[in-house]
Amino acid sequence: MEINNDWYKRYKNQMQTKLNQNKSQFPIDISERVDNDSMPKRIRWILWAVVVIWLIYMICIWSFYFFKIKKTDINSESKTTQTTHTLITSSAEMIPLQKISNVGYTFYLGQIDYPSAAAITDQTKNDITQIIYDAKFSKNLSQNIAIIITNTLAASTNQYFDSPFGKVKMVQLPPVFLQGGGAYSQHIGNLSFIFINKNQLNSSRLNDILTHELGHYIGSLLTAADWEQYYNLRQIPTGTPLYTSNWMLSPGEDFADVYKNVFTKEKVQTYYGLLIKTNDNFPENECGKIYDKLMKNYIAKKYSNTDSWNIPILSVKEADTNITSNKELQDCRRKVLLDSEKYSEDWRFVVPYYSSVSQATKTFVINTINKLNL
Ligand SMILES: [Zn+2]
Repeated sequence: MEINNDWYKRYKNQMQTKLNQNKSQFPIDISERVDNDSMPKRIRWILWAVVVIWLIYMICIWSFYFFKIKKTDINSESKTTQTTHTLITSSAEMIPLQKISNVGYTFYLGQIDYPSAAAITDQTKNDITQIIYDAKFSKNLSQNIAIIITNTLAASTNQYFDSPFGKVKMVQLPPVFLQGGGAYSQHIGNLSFIFINKNQLNSSRLNDILTHELGHYIGSLLTAADWEQYYNLRQIPTGTPLYTSNWMLSPGEDFADVYKNVFTKEKVQTYYGLLIKTNDNFPENECGKIYDKLMKNYIAKKYSNTDSWNIPILSVKEADTNITSNKELQDCRRKVLLDSEKYSEDWRFVVPYYSSVSQATKTFVINTINKLNL
């Protein structure tokens, strides 16, 4: 290859001079090196550039997926119930959340149903707002609630919610949801998800179901000291985990149901607190012997220091109140409630006992919500 440019000649001379100065023992023909080696060197540079660009590209891709996986894991771990670590796939169906603002209250609303299903009506939006208001939720607290009206036939774990705090994967609803009608799940940040069975929307149970689930949200905000106080008020044995395999003996469920009772007056379904006979006219079979023994002792004690000329009038109500809180009697009643087959005689007409909520417990619930509303 012939090169006639002046700059090249000057460059060649300079290089030759440098080489001579270095006293190289081997004569080197600069023109040969420049002309013949220039092509492979250029190709090497191009190859290096390609490799470096490819490496940068791979690092970017890897970082993107790593960040995505970490983020989804955090979302899953923040759930208190039904945690799932499965990633949201690209084929997953997005369930939008609608921000509802109604008479000063704001909450999120979503719907899981067939594509052809009708949209949530204004009546439902008003009903839900009324229940949130009746449950004494402040305007600040209601913003942390996402209510999902769910048709279980259209629900799948391949769905996710696009929440203001990120994507949240749909949980697997258990079969008890069909009958119970509600489920609570704290997913991300302060945003809690409440699932309401579509079948219950227009039923008289909507108020009870939703208020119970709102109670779970309040329960999730209680401190250890609050729980200790609550366990004492409801005579829950110390050390009982918040959620056990038995719904009726789970303190977390008990709190949600007591919360419901305070604001809807509906009976508590769990088995803590003072267990009272559902109907005084029905005989108490299994625990009747204990009750009679206690009543006999009470009367004997009451009249032991009384002379026969001054017999006090026995108040049955007062006697009953004194006897009912007896631990032996309460344990017996709980035992009967837990086994309807074994104690079928007690269960013949009606659920034999119900859990009453003391005034002190009601005050605790009211004080708790007032504290959180500040
Ligand atoms: Zn519950």
